[in-house]
Amino acid sequence: SKAQLFEKGTKVNITFNDVAGLDEAKVEVMEIVDFLKNPKKYTTLGGKIPKGALLVGPPGTGKTLLAKAVAGEAQVPFFSMSGSDFVEMFVGVGASRVRDLFKQARDKAPCIVFIDEIDAIGRARGKNAVMSNDERENTLNQMLVEMDGFGGDSGIIILAATNRPDVLDSALLRPGRFDRQITIDLPDAKGRERIFEVHLGPIKKSKNLNVKKLAQQTPGFAGADIANVCNEAALIAARNGKSEVDMQDFNDAVDRIIGGLEKKNKIIQ
Ligand code: ATP
Repeated sequence: SKAQLFEKGTKVNITFNDVAGLDEAKVEVMEIVDFLKNPKKYTTLGGKIPKGALLVGPPGTGKTLLAKAVAGEAQVPFFSMSGSDFVEMFVGVGASRVRDLFKQARDKAPCIVFIDEIDAIGRARGKNAVMSNDERENTLNQMLVEMDGFGGDSGIIILAATNRPDVLDSALLRPGRFDRQITIDLPDAKGRERIFEVHLGPIKKSKNLNVKKLAQQTPGFAGADIANVCNEAALIAARNGKSEVDMQDFNDAVDRIIGGLEKKNKIIQ
């Protein structure tokens, strides 16, 4: 079966309200929202709108969510593809997929093109590339051709995500390409509390739930882990026939997620 490589210019309903914390990153991407909504305002004095920004941070911290929120706030279509989708491709296919993606984006501009795990394509030579070097390079070159081929007034803004900015080919980081970097860190206790609040929204929770305590008990958790905890706690409570989710269910869910994270880390080591 053919893998679905990118979402085709789907409309998104996600807004900045769905993204908890990340206050500094939000301020930076708000500018991008305004570029998409009012391009003329920026180009009248001869300035060029940036073509892309790199979102840098650990897995599960909300990079994809934030990119979708940019599209949602600007009310433009969202195209996405993941660098890792290209890992097992035949020669020539990667480059043609990139060409295809940008053709669709040009047709639907203004829009956001999101490239997750750009390091899978954009690794500098010889840095433990997963895909064959020729194929990776063809794909990367096509991306550079596409980026250089549209002007700042095209209405296309590319957001790319990585947790390994250090391995990226410097060609990607040149002025006029991904010359802006937006850092997205793991949330601190306050940030975790706010993320819990977002994900507790749809959950039938008991009144004794201490969100602050939950945030304190989950150092090192990314937003994705917290979303996972909330869902797991609701399932645990339901399994035990409860009518609401209480602190005990959350503690059990946290233990379970920590167990999972430890296993994952063991595999990586
Ligand atoms: P990866 O690098 O693994 O692709 P990512 O940084 O793109 O991860 P997302 O896919 O955006 O992370 O996050 C996964 C899910 O975790 C989100 O859909 C959301 O449910 C939750 N999440 C992560 N960060 C936040 C946040 N700041 N606020 C609310 N929810 C969050």
